[in-house]
This record gives sequence, structure tokens and C-alpha cells, in this order.
Amino acid sequence: MKAAVASEFELIQRYFTRPAPSAVLGVGDDCALVKPRQGMLLAVSTDMLVEGTHFLAGTDPRRLGHKALAVNLSDLAAMGADARWALLSIALPAADEAWIAAFAGGFLALAESTGVDIIGGDTTRGPLAMSVTVTGEVPPGLELRRSGAQVGDDIWLSGSTGDAALGLACLQGRIELPEDLRTACCLRLECPEPRLELGGRLRGLASSAIDVSDGLAADIGHIAEASSVAADIYLDLLPRSSALSSCTDTGLAQQYLLGGGDDYELAFTAPVAVRAQLDALAQELQLPLTRIGVIQPGAPRVVVRGRDGVPVAVAHRGYDHFQP
Ligand code: ADP
Ligand code: MG
Repeated sequence: MKAAVASEFELIQRYFTRPAPSAVLGVGDDCALVKPRQGMLLAVSTDMLVEGTHFLAGTDPRRLGHKALAVNLSDLAAMGADARWALLSIALPAADEAWIAAFAGGFLALAESTGVDIIGGDTTRGPLAMSVTVTGEVPPGLELRRSGAQVGDDIWLSGSTGDAALGLACLQGRIELPEDLRTACCLRLECPEPRLELGGRLRGLASSAIDVSDGLAADIGHIAEASSVAADIYLDLLPRSSALSSCTDTGLAQQYLLGGGDDYELAFTAPVAVRAQLDALAQELQLPLTRIGVIQPGAPRVVVRGRDGVPVAVAHRGYDHFQP
């Protein structure tokens, strides 16, 4: 006998309905109800992942569930907000319960480890895609906007960039890496770690912040634009992972370092006066924080400088869905 196919209601009930102790009302009514803590601003963001555009067909569903939430939490981190609630809208080609259970497992595990309650969403049939909305809280005046960079500020980067792009290139058969580095890069691509703790701790220290999703140069360019300043980045200061260092094609390595997307590290600016505090924070969080450049006066632009300060041409300035 063929097992009955689960209904939309059963899928929601089984896989996406969980207690939401931090909400007044969670999944199941026409709206969720939430009460932000006294005096806090709500920070709200949404991000969509579409099969074939943001992830390859056949991606491990558990990792995909993790990533769908992680890329959204990364935006809260970049705003300096504490993550509170998430909504998940998902289009599924079929009610494949093993797939849905694995996806929900990845999503909910990250929600639990970051203290986020899932409070609603929407479930429909369609080409595989998901849109997550997250809300967080930030004390007014301490949010990390893109527009706060000041001339003379240092430019900082958490972790390193380029690994996610290397992972994608491996999966697409464009490059080859030793097995252990390949595994590490695919993990960076498919299971990014949102820098929530760092984002929260940068409140009162950083003058601006952004998460690196499009490519380092492009994303620092967004800070420069929003802050009406110029940004100088020094190629020799950029942290390089072991995978990136092992890349024999130095042109490609440089392209991924500056233009590879999907790393979800935080790039931020901070006054020189807080250098020691940021070095101590890196120690405490066990997360490298590296000074990679300086904010300069002038029209908004990003210049990447090599040895002797000579500008380096940056071929790939980040991903744009509507540009070739
Ligand atoms: P409506 O028709 O009012 O949009 P739905 O039947 O779509 O209601 O959803 C019923 C409840 O289940 C709502 O509370 C909605 O937020 C929640 N919900 C639906 N899909 C999901 C999902 N994928 N994840 C979490 N909650 C969901
Ligand atoms: Mg609905």
C-alpha cells in the first residue's frame, strides 16, 4: 500500500511548528505576536534562496536548512542586533518528507543554538526556493549602520574570505583541491556561521559594518558609498585561509579573496582608539579580527593596494543577479 502524502497542514505541524517561548503567539494563527524588549529597536531582514541561483540542485537538505537561516542571521549580526524570531516561507516541488525533515533539522538546530524562535511562515508547492525573515533587537543608537565610517577609521575583517568561492569552484569541477581542504571549503559554502556574537560585541566599538555576501571589495564599496568616504585595502594584509594559500593560481586566489561571495564574515570600520579592545575581543571570541585597510577622505571608491601602495586591478567586484 502506498503511504499517504502529507498535507500542507501536516507538514507545517510536523516539521515547522515548535514551541516559541520568546513570542506571545507562535505558529498556528493568522499572525504571530511578539513583544520586543522595552526600549529596543526591531531589526528586520529577509533573504531568499533559489535552487540553481543560490544553491546547486542536490544540495544536502540539512546544510541548506542551516544556510537559509544563517544568511539571514548574518544580516542581523552585521547590524549589531540580537537575533530573536524567524519566519520561513518555502516552495517545495513535492512533499518529500525525508528531505523536509532534514531541511527542518538544519534550520531548527541553528535556530536553537542561536536562541531564535520560529514563529511562522508559508508553505506552497513550487520550484524549490525559500525565503526567511528574521527579526532581532538592537538598542537605539548602537545599531551598526553602513553609513557610519569616518575618515581615519581602520577597516577590519573577521575570519577570512575566499573559501566559499573555492568550495563552489570545487563542486562545479572548475578547480581541484586536496580532499581535506575541499571538505573545509564546501563546509564554508554550505554551512556558513553567522557572526552574531561578534556583531553584538561590536556595538559601541565599530562605526559601521556589513556582512560579506557579495565579495569583500564590493561589500566594503557599499560602506564607502553609504558613508561618503573612500576605502583603501591592502592586499598583503588580507588574511588567507590554508585552502586559499594552497591555491597555485595566484590570480584566481586574489579574485576569490576580493570578489568571492558567500563567506558571511563581517567587514567593519572602527576608530584607531579601539584597536586594543578589538584585539582583546578577537582573543576572547577565538575569532581572528584583522586590520585590512583605512578609510580615506574623497569620493566613494575602494582601492586595493599591493606592495608599495600601487593600486591592483580588481576583476570581479562582486555578484549582481542582473549583470553578466
Ligand atoms: P494563512 O493561510 O493564514 O497564511 P497558513 O495555512 O499558510 O496560514 O499557515 C498556518 C500557520 O502556519 C501560520 O501561523 C503560518 O505562519 C505557519 N506556517 C506556514 N508555513 C510555515 C513554515 N514553513 N514554517 C513555519 N511556519 C509556517
Ligand atoms: Mg499561507
